[in-house]
Amino acid sequence: MTVPTSIHPPAETPGSPSLLEAGTRERLLSGLGALYGELDAAIASANPLCRTSGDCCRFATYGHRLYATRVEAQYFALRHGWPARDFAQESCPYQKDRLCTAREGRPLGCRVFFCDPAWKGRGEELTELYLRRIGALSESLGIERDYRPFLEHLRGFRQEALQAEGHGEATWPS
Ligand code: SF4
Repeated sequence: MTVPTSIHPPAETPGSPSLLEAGTRERLLSGLGALYGELDAAIASANPLCRTSGDCCRFATYGHRLYATRVEAQYFALRHGWPARDFAQESCPYQKDRLCTAREGRPLGCRVFFCDPAWKGRGEELTELYLRRIGALSESLGIERDYRPFLEHLRGFRQEALQAEGHGEATWPS
C-alpha cells in the first residue's frame, strides 16, 4: 500500500494538509536531492548543447511526453506545488518565455534531455542508471514507482488534497 501523497498546496489553498509522514518527506527530499545533484554534475561535466529553444517542454510540438516516478513528482510538488488553474497537457505549464520556472525540482526526464544529437547515447545511459537509483529510493521509502506522465501525477496530488479537505473530486482537463 502506498503512503498517501504529500503535496505542497498551491497559493490559493494555504493550509492544505500534508499527507506524507514528516520523516518520509525529509528522506525523500534529501535522498532525491542528492541523486539530482550527482546527475546534474555528470551532465555538466559532459556539457551537452542546449539552444534554449524551449521546444522540449512543448510536448505536443516536439512529439514526446514527459514521464516521471511518483517520488520525483512528490519532490517537485513539495517545491513548486502545482498549477493553480487547469492546464492543457500539450506543454508544460511551468515553462515561461521558453525557460523553466521550476528548475530546482524538475524531474529526471527534464534534467537529462537535450536535443543535441551527440548527447543521445549518454543521455539514455544516465536515464537508465538514475531511474534504477530512483526506483531503489522509492522502495526504501515504501512508495511505489508509479512511472507515468508527469502532469498526471500533479493532477492526482491535487485531487487527493481536495478530497482530504472534503471538497470531493477536482475537475481537470483530460
Ligand atoms: S518542469 Fe521545466 S524543464 Fe521540465 S518540462 Fe516543465 S518547463 Fe520544461
